[in-house]
Amino acid sequence: MIVDLERCVGCGKCVEDCPLGAISLIEEKAVISQKLCVNCQTCAKVCPEEAITKEAEPLPGRVRCDACPIGCEIALGKTGACKRFQNEDGRLVRTVPLHTFADIKDIVGPDYEEAIRRPLITAIGAGTTYPDARPAPYIVQGKSDGIDVVTVVTEAPLSYSGIKVKIDTDKTIGEEGAPVLIKGRKVGHVTTEEYGSKILSIGGANLLTGKNCFTVARTIVEIANREPVELRVKKGSTLKMQVGKAPVIDGEVIQKMRVGCGSASMGLFTPFFKEAADEVIVLDSHLTGLFTEHAAGRYVNARYSGIQLRGRKSTPGRYFQDQGHGWGGTSITNPLEIIAGVDEEIAWDGMTLLITETTGERASMFRWNGKGFEEIPLTAAAQRAVGVINNTAQPSRVSAIYVAGAGGSARAGVTKYPIKLTQAVHACKACLTVGGAPTFIFPGGGITFAVDVERVKRGAFTWVPTPATVAPIEYTMRHDDYIEMGGHQEAMKPFDVVVKDLKKVMV
Ligand code: SF4
Ligand code: SF4
Repeated sequence: MIVDLERCVGCGKCVEDCPLGAISLIEEKAVISQKLCVNCQTCAKVCPEEAITKEAEPLPGRVRCDACPIGCEIALGKTGACKRFQNEDGRLVRTVPLHTFADIKDIVGPDYEEAIRRPLITAIGAGTTYPDARPAPYIVQGKSDGIDVVTVVTEAPLSYSGIKVKIDTDKTIGEEGAPVLIKGRKVGHVTTEEYGSKILSIGGANLLTGKNCFTVARTIVEIANREPVELRVKKGSTLKMQVGKAPVIDGEVIQKMRVGCGSASMGLFTPFFKEAADEVIVLDSHLTGLFTEHAAGRYVNARYSGIQLRGRKSTPGRYFQDQGHGWGGTSITNPLEIIAGVDEEIAWDGMTLLITETTGERASMFRWNGKGFEEIPLTAAAQRAVGVINNTAQPSRVSAIYVAGAGGSARAGVTKYPIKLTQAVHACKACLTVGGAPTFIFPGGGITFAVDVERVKRGAFTWVPTPATVAPIEYTMRHDDYIEMGGHQEAMKPFDVVVKDLKKVMV
């Protein structure tokens, strides 16, 4: 990398961000250690003065890594920017050897044994014993896999609770952090975007105790019970949604989620793109891909088209875009708008261009006539490529994870020593299920769990106007462990007796 000393103002941003510590400031100017530098260009990307550029020629005596789009040029005995690959005697080796499961099993830790993974009874319909000083409504003893186990159940009111909603779409729904409203009342906010989906966070203790608390509690429960709800993102979209169904965004039923970003599409469909056209652009709001410049195109010796794209370049053939209501969730409504320029020295007459989205729902084809692009019908090979994307794109749907903290007073209904229950859950000796569904227990303190609401019987979530949402919680453990943790032995009933009683109630 070359530093233009005239331009460098000594701000030190490159020093902070160089992944290899290859830059130092000397007399308020950036100085790059050529021994350590691998030409990853991180410094050039963060320099506000554009004072750092890459040499035209690759560095001599280096090995080029092609394990990611950065393409580090690594000197003998040194590592690349990610420190995963090292140049050892002129060949690249992994700095960390491949691990078998046996190598890491002690770090992964224990798993719940089969006998306690499923509760003897669920807490659906069990009721609550308030205050929790009383034993939980049902403490049931029975056999599972020939082992004596105990299941303790309660429909726990959880004031620390909320729901994360995943909406599979490449459509823009609103700014990250934007409030999510129901009938004008705030019930949550837009959080991050995860793999082609938008995520909403609804509820949480602060909203559940705020001025819209009852609306918040009702909304969490409606979503968790897979009922239809209509939400609006402030300064964003209207969302009609129901867990398990396709979302309706601004009145449009969303059919497909994206297969990945525009760059991922390049690697996923390389052989089809090579056949489809001389150049392929996959429009996407995260990363738009340009095939002949992308590593995937280079891998199959695609000839560079001379097309330059709009957007901030990440690595060759990968361009960050804005968000909007156009193609691929970008602001582009006419696909040719993605082209910033064409190098007429490189482009050739008759060169074909396919532009599509990461869902393959829209596609157009063009031919270069020496001055501009004219639209032509999609060729059979282009239709095949677009069809493969569309068939790979999964149906769009809404899903949700209910998240809550069960590490509070409800523990007193299980044991006289609440901390022992918390410890048992983290040691995989007491298994927490929700309506029989498996949960993920968050690491760290307390008992914070997450459950896929589609695995819980519809209608099992309720709310009380304290306000709190109510979820059916079961703890199942070995009988001996329950006694050892100070469980309410006196309230224990055999499974057969409990089941007989249930039948009586039903009669
Ligand atoms: S190119 Fe990468 S390794 Fe080299 S100085 Fe810049 S940030 Fe550091
Ligand atoms: S995988 Fe690591 S060493 Fe290889 S090019 Fe990427 S950042 Fe550089």
